[in-house]
Amino acid sequence: MTPVITKAEHATEQAADKVVETTDGMHLIIDALKHNGIDTIYGLVGIPITDTARLAQAQGMRFISFRHEQNAGNAAAIAGYMTQKPGICMTVSAPGFLNGLAALANATVNCFPMILISGSSEREIIDLQQGDYEEMDQLSAAKQYAKAAYRVNKAEDIGIGVARAIRAAVSGRPGGVYLDLPAQLLAQSLDVERGKQSLVRVVDPVPRQIPAPDAVKRALDLLKGAKRPLIILGKGAAYAQVDADIRTLVEKSGIPYLPMSMAKGLLPDTHPQSAAAARSFVLAQADVVMLIGARLNWLLAHGKGKTWGAPKQFIQIDISPTEIDSNVAIAAPVIGDIGSCVVALLTGMGSNFGKPDTAWTDEIAERKNKNMAKMAATLDRDSSPMNFHGALRAIRDVLKTRPDINLVNEGANTLDFGRSIIDMFEPRKRFDCGTWGIMGIGMGYAIGAAITSGLPVVAVEGDSAFGFSGMELETICRYQLPIVTVIFNNNGVYKGSDVNPSGTPDPAPCSFVKGARYDKMIEAFGGIGYNVATPAELTKALVEAIASGKPALINAAIDETAGTESGRLTSLNPQSTATKK
Ligand code: ADP
Ligand code: MG
Repeated sequence: MTPVITKAEHATEQAADKVVETTDGMHLIIDALKHNGIDTIYGLVGIPITDTARLAQAQGMRFISFRHEQNAGNAAAIAGYMTQKPGICMTVSAPGFLNGLAALANATVNCFPMILISGSSEREIIDLQQGDYEEMDQLSAAKQYAKAAYRVNKAEDIGIGVARAIRAAVSGRPGGVYLDLPAQLLAQSLDVERGKQSLVRVVDPVPRQIPAPDAVKRALDLLKGAKRPLIILGKGAAYAQVDADIRTLVEKSGIPYLPMSMAKGLLPDTHPQSAAAARSFVLAQADVVMLIGARLNWLLAHGKGKTWGAPKQFIQIDISPTEIDSNVAIAAPVIGDIGSCVVALLTGMGSNFGKPDTAWTDEIAERKNKNMAKMAATLDRDSSPMNFHGALRAIRDVLKTRPDINLVNEGANTLDFGRSIIDMFEPRKRFDCGTWGIMGIGMGYAIGAAITSGLPVVAVEGDSAFGFSGMELETICRYQLPIVTVIFNNNGVYKGSDVNPSGTPDPAPCSFVKGARYDKMIEAFGGIGYNVATPAELTKALVEAIASGKPALINAAIDETAGTESGRLTSLNPQSTATKK
């Protein structure tokens, strides 16, 4: 057990000859986190948590200090996804809390374990709305966007409060948890012995959940009767960290599979059973689909409609029973943790489980080859100015040689093309816009991934997407992280070629400063900047930047007319249908 450190200035004299050693709220928070093996806090200091941050560092924790709380929160969330331990984000009250809350909500939606710890101002004043410094009822605000939210009011409850937060974040379906710490609590003192005894080490924070045998049998029976089976691997499957068993299940069954975006690399994207290059075909044609840690949300067209074509039956493996039947009827739900479910399926399959009809797999192979040949031709066509395909081909070829590198990818077209062009070879290396399809995760995820893995990160960013978190370049340089940010600079959102039709001097809503030099931004903080205009220059810069192990940014000029509006989400973006008289 970690010793509770005492603070001399808080020592109170009980008797003239006897000094009772005391600890306080901020020491206990650090002690409670360390007691549970948590060694890193992502945050941003200010009233009332500055001293807590200093103390965390003094006590041997890492405190990664950001420029905006949302980015700190995103870093914590991705650390949670990578490690199955809650990523910790610490913020100041009211506005700092609200900035962090955006990341907490995103973590919850994505099923990433994270704890947002925010200082808050005085309860008496907040509850009577008397106008305190940064007054806000943070607990109430957090409740609706988090998996759970707690407040600790007494220093002796810190141990229990932290234990509850950890358990809520990582057990069952992981998610975001809010922990409210009033300023008074941080300064509250407590007898050091009582403090020590109040700490709680969480036993079995991620309990296994074994699936029911009849559920497993039901799923296997359905699979056996399938003519055109398909497996879909989601980021829940990647999160579960049972990579070898999942691979065995896929290979033993011989069933073609599709990886969702962040499940890419769970099996190498070049795996012969990957049907990614024939995605539309398999979704439309499959008759039995087994979802492993993937939800039938908008990213899978809600499991119905034209995308899904022929009628089908679903098997769904998930830890959350209420996920079942969320969009369409699920014929065979298997509820449990993915590790236990996959093992149960493998056992149930025995040694002579039939492979799918070759008519099905041959047809997929044929489609795949055709689509891949078409894509290869597009990728090899060098266009000037450089377009998304040329730039992504360059990045793909460099990353192929470094499968250990983490990839962050956000934007509209930069994301859509990047997802299908850049192959992944190792699990939990691709981090992107996730369930909400948001922008703004870029630098936060990049920093979280670099800190957590100790390995290089390449962040492939649309120029617009980068803008949401760009100031963290300073953080990246301050901590000297091996992060190479590549900006796909097409002078705007979607395209840079929009013009304001009204004749006023204002630029069009989608356009940015033309020919901006994002590489100069990183130079301001001592990082290495590159400015490139061709795939060959991009290749050279990327190889060099990765080899340097230093913070770098490559400004890659992309044809400003190359993008499409809303990337592939055109159907979600209402366009004016009014005709002007
Ligand atoms: P994707 O976006 O890749 O399709 P989703 O985030 O939609 O993935 O789905 C992930 C699913 O995985 C969620 O329904 C979640 O409940 C489930 N999940 C997460 N971790 C586990 C786990 N360890 N065991 C079982 N299911 C899990
Ligand atoms: Mg752009």
